[in-house]
Amino acid sequence: MAIKVAKFGGSSLADAGQFEKVKAILLSDPDRRYVVPSAPGKRGYTDIKVTDMLYECSRKAAAGNAYQEVFDRIRERYMDIREELGVSFDLKPALDEIERRIAMGEGSDYAASRGEYLNGMLLAAYLGWDFVDPAECVFFTDKGKLDERKTEEALSRILKEHSYAVIPGFYGMDASGKIKTFSRGGSDITGALVAQAVQADVYENWTDVSGCMMADPRIVRNPEVIRYVTYRELRELSYMGAGVLHEDALFPVRKSGIPTNIRNTNDPEAPGTMICYEADDEDSEFGITGIAGHKDFAIVNVEKTMMNSELGFGRRVLQAIEEQGISFEHMPSGIDTMCVVVHEDSLAGKKEKLVSRIYELCDPDSVEIHSGLALIATVGRGMVRTKGTCAKLFNALEKAGVNVRLIDQGSSELNIIVGVDNLDFENAVRAIYRAFVPKDRAR
Ligand code: ASP
Repeated sequence: MAIKVAKFGGSSLADAGQFEKVKAILLSDPDRRYVVPSAPGKRGYTDIKVTDMLYECSRKAAAGNAYQEVFDRIRERYMDIREELGVSFDLKPALDEIERRIAMGEGSDYAASRGEYLNGMLLAAYLGWDFVDPAECVFFTDKGKLDERKTEEALSRILKEHSYAVIPGFYGMDASGKIKTFSRGGSDITGALVAQAVQADVYENWTDVSGCMMADPRIVRNPEVIRYVTYRELRELSYMGAGVLHEDALFPVRKSGIPTNIRNTNDPEAPGTMICYEADDEDSEFGITGIAGHKDFAIVNVEKTMMNSELGFGRRVLQAIEEQGISFEHMPSGIDTMCVVVHEDSLAGKKEKLVSRIYELCDPDSVEIHSGLALIATVGRGMVRTKGTCAKLFNALEKAGVNVRLIDQGSSELNIIVGVDNLDFENAVRAIYRAFVPKDRAR
């Protein structure tokens, strides 16, 4: 029997109606045996996530302000779901205990984690599945980092005892025995850890979109959903800002060779996006997989005649950058020029010092800093074997009247990065998208 781990995001469990959809999805496939819920999310545009309300309670309690009204709203949300689903499980003792501990100043991690804890208990009761508390099987070190070895050992040992279980996302226990959360959106990580521990055949991540889009829908109207993407491609896309999953969620599943399937709770028939270790080029219908990017980078441009023959030149430029506590993103270079791309805000208050330090260390002919640069990555595993991808891309940019200020193609040939003016960013993304995805394509 195969094993599927299904993680459901906050919007998938925001009210009783969504719980019903989740139950139908789980019961439609007996391989879905472990479920990782988030806390109830927004029910509409103006609604507030339970996690945010819990943080608010904790902040107010710490400042000695009244938080009762906010906690009552949280109480009401869970009670409403429980009542509408007709679940007999009594949540009141747990809610009272949480309220008491927040009042005693238990801290923000404890407070925030209770959103998932309560939702997990409710979901387990609704499904009739076992409840497994991550406080007993997800561990953090005394440095606050995930204790991978201990967690994997405990999760796989404990989950072996349960054929069907609900494991709340987002939190675990730290070395001193206190509840600790991952960073925001961290239920994705719990889901991936559970998938790794039970050696799942697939990690399903259920959300409210039908997968990863080929481009940002705020820029390109109705972009295509990516059907197959490799972990490496996704890493490139998410680095450039195309985020569907918490970044740290990719590592446990990628390492274990478990595919991740992004699915839509509101459209369960849609196949979503499959993220795999490897994928065939033929699965990439458009020749590229996706486009992502963002604005506000700067280029530090260092020129020196005969730079190529000067030993240690690059190292000294990077040393100057490191001394200022700046981390660099890319480094396209020529024979006599070296460009280092950094985030513009990392240069704030450091520009002059950096330039003078490069002069001291490297004795260059010139050092210039150009800001207002946007980077766009066009990612595709098939590029390495396809002729004409670059030509298509640059033709499209030329036709759109976009001036390309920088080009960087990684040696893996997994992507082509172009730097354009911030002002040209959206126009350039649309032009590249249209060059690869025909407008009149029947869906
Ligand atoms: N509920 C937490 C948050 O809002 C964790 C999660 O949903 O993944 O960040």
